Amino acid sequence: MFESKEQFKQAFIEKIQTLFGQSLEESSTAARYVALSTLIREIISKRWYQSNQQYSISKEKQVYYFSMEFLLGRLLGSNLFNLGMTEVCCQGLKELGIELTELEAVEHDAGLGNGGLGRLAACFLDSMASLHLPGHGTGIRFRHGMFEQKIVDGYQVELPDNWLRDGYVWETRKVDRAVTVKFGGNVQMEEQGGRLIAIHENYEPVLAVPYDVPIVGANCNTVNTLRLWSAETNNFDFSSFSKGDFLKAVEEKYSLEATSQILYPDDNYPEGKTLRLKQQYFFVSAGLQSIVRRYKRTHGGSPADLGIFHKKIAIHINDTHPALAVPELMRILMDEESLDWDQAWHVTRNTISYTNHTILPEALEKWPIELVKTLLPRMYMIINELNERFCAALWQRYPGDWERIRSMALIADGYVHMAHLAVVGSYSVNGVAEVHSNILKNEVMAPFHEFFPYRFTNKTNGVTHRRWLAKANPQLAALITATIGPGWMAHPDELANLHRFAHDGALQNEIKAVKQANKERLANYIQAKMGIAIDVGSIFDVQVKRIHAYKRQTLNALHILDLYNRLKADPGLDIEPRTFIFAGKSATGYYLAKRIIKFINTLAQVINNDPAIGGKIKVIFLENYSVSLAELIIPAADVSEQISTASKEASGTGNMKLMMNGAITIGTLDGANIEIKDEVGDDNIVIFGLTAEQVMNYYKYGGYNVLDVYNNNPRLKLAVDQLINGFLPVSPDEFDCIHHSLMRTNDEYFVLKDFANYAVAQERINNLYGKQRCWQSMAINNIAFSGRFASDRTVSEYAIGIWKIKPVVIREN
Ligand SMILES: *Cc1c(COP(=O)(O)O)cnc(C)c1O
Repeated sequence: MFESKEQFKQAFIEKIQTLFGQSLEESSTAARYVALSTLIREIISKRWYQSNQQYSISKEKQVYYFSMEFLLGRLLGSNLFNLGMTEVCCQGLKELGIELTELEAVEHDAGLGNGGLGRLAACFLDSMASLHLPGHGTGIRFRHGMFEQKIVDGYQVELPDNWLRDGYVWETRKVDRAVTVKFGGNVQMEEQGGRLIAIHENYEPVLAVPYDVPIVGANCNTVNTLRLWSAETNNFDFSSFSKGDFLKAVEEKYSLEATSQILYPDDNYPEGKTLRLKQQYFFVSAGLQSIVRRYKRTHGGSPADLGIFHKKIAIHINDTHPALAVPELMRILMDEESLDWDQAWHVTRNTISYTNHTILPEALEKWPIELVKTLLPRMYMIINELNERFCAALWQRYPGDWERIRSMALIADGYVHMAHLAVVGSYSVNGVAEVHSNILKNEVMAPFHEFFPYRFTNKTNGVTHRRWLAKANPQLAALITATIGPGWMAHPDELANLHRFAHDGALQNEIKAVKQANKERLANYIQAKMGIAIDVGSIFDVQVKRIHAYKRQTLNALHILDLYNRLKADPGLDIEPRTFIFAGKSATGYYLAKRIIKFINTLAQVINNDPAIGGKIKVIFLENYSVSLAELIIPAADVSEQISTASKEASGTGNMKLMMNGAITIGTLDGANIEIKDEVGDDNIVIFGLTAEQVMNYYKYGGYNVLDVYNNNPRLKLAVDQLINGFLPVSPDEFDCIHHSLMRTNDEYFVLKDFANYAVAQERINNLYGKQRCWQSMAINNIAFSGRFASDRTVSEYAIGIWKIKPVVIREN
């Protein structure tokens, strides 16, 4: 660490010289970024080494968080923050004529995730390290992360994300820790010394090479590891090479390495492609092999030692993507460590725990039997055996109830059902918000809950307040500390002390001034990027998240269209000026979502260029939503749109980030919105729409007719008609699919049903904003009661309630 600015400046200048052979004056911004990050990485490395040493010596239980996605964003700023070095670096650089924020902007986002699920994993890593918990991540080092989104003529265009182009300072390649993962081939059972041994032949080996990224906890006490696996081959197929078939050799090399080339950009809609299943097994197998190897080094490698593996290792699977951990751990324990089935099963189902993230039926993963059989023959054998044993147990309990057994089987209707595999193979299953966990227990997984009554719990999601409040909104953080002291940083519950100041006029003014500065920062970005001037005195109304029918950007857009119609009809309409800000990516093959983006951009084009409404409302669609863009938008938001169809959004985490930054939620009683309401109280949130129970009852019993709503609400009817009647400057069939999704599927997501209540709720927002004292007190209360949604709380609940792990404080030297 640096004792002083002077010491830091000296080290920084030297680092540029030794890395690039350049003086500070000669160096580019990119070089300065690399020099600063390298300097920081060296400081981290020491604690990283000490953390690893202490984990080995103390032999404390470790948890490994397996996730297909880790949406880290940038690390320089958050590492500096967690090291407590932001001030020294920022001031030191300033004296050298350099802006820290400019160097931070050089870093490519590590966009190794789609949205909420991947970002949750990143927040959990931050909280585990900050709470001194021995917890590590296991995932894939995708060569290309989430695609870069451009908006061209109102449409989403996808460009490959080449985030590794300039190298990645934070990773360390560990080629000596590589393992082999086997695909395809055939498996024979042979008797050897009275035991049946599985012999796997003719398989295709893929070399898995780990790249480790240090995860720095607050105050840099603990540094944990995110291990990302990369598929590589160092063995060209020399047999074809020697025949002169160079191209074939290269082709094979790339086909094997394809495994870790690309992140599938489908949020809540799994792509049933062979390559995706390959990715899943690739990182699960590599991760488990390396964990078992380390376990044996630390705790001994006899079958008896491995028989108590679960006492020292917890493995958590983030959704079902890593559910092959169940049969793969069985395989390693039986085929490589000589445990028998019963021993291996005892260890496995006491090691693995599982989080369910969705109840959307289309999002539940299942793989065709034939695919699993050919790509992963040994996995298939083990899953099959698990299935037979599980079905036999079900038969004991429910003799003759074929229908129930079929509905719970791991293998049924030609598919392997990954959620069933995950529930049966783990000791704990949790949902991510109260309402979601209850729907799991009572509806979606009711038969499993009946069979395994103690397995199901709730762990409401959270976000790291270090990145999403302290780092993203430093002025607000400083104001909070000035008001209630610095304790909230280590104990986010203490934010509640702000509640006493909710009606303090001075604080209200300061909160407003901070928000205003953040709004100006965002407005400058929009001006520079899009050439559009927005009114920084207007309400910043923000809906930023993946584009999805259930998230109902369409509801927001239809309301904007209705508001525009009303302004046209009555230019004197007395409303607070408002800027509607959208951002979000659509899955590449999701036709409806892509047209929703075009719809929003068409509204923007019409509304932003119509002088008749006097600039009262504007619509902005910011391209390429990412962690870094979220960090810019969220601190500037006045209103947080959380308007999913009730029962569909398992938790949401964007809602928490926005609340933490003082935005007022307009939302449905869905996911964690319900718990946000419980925390802040009815006066500090604007709730509207159907409840989850009402939605589910409509699905079960019918009783909703979209035409009734359409015909009885002239304002709504007009807006819906305008989708297809030539009102908008697009080809007449441009928005047919949106219209169809509303009117021809009986409005599956209840957009029309909730419209009138949403419009009333928006009027309430408008009126509350008009009463600035009241609005600022609401903002303060939202910040005050956001402590519960810090991921430190969530991760503590996992540590105590599921993983049974204890903090390990890392000693100096
Ligand atoms: C938090 C976050 C999300 C999740 O947002 P929701 O509103 O919960 O869907 C998605 N993408 C990014 C980049 C995020 O930071």
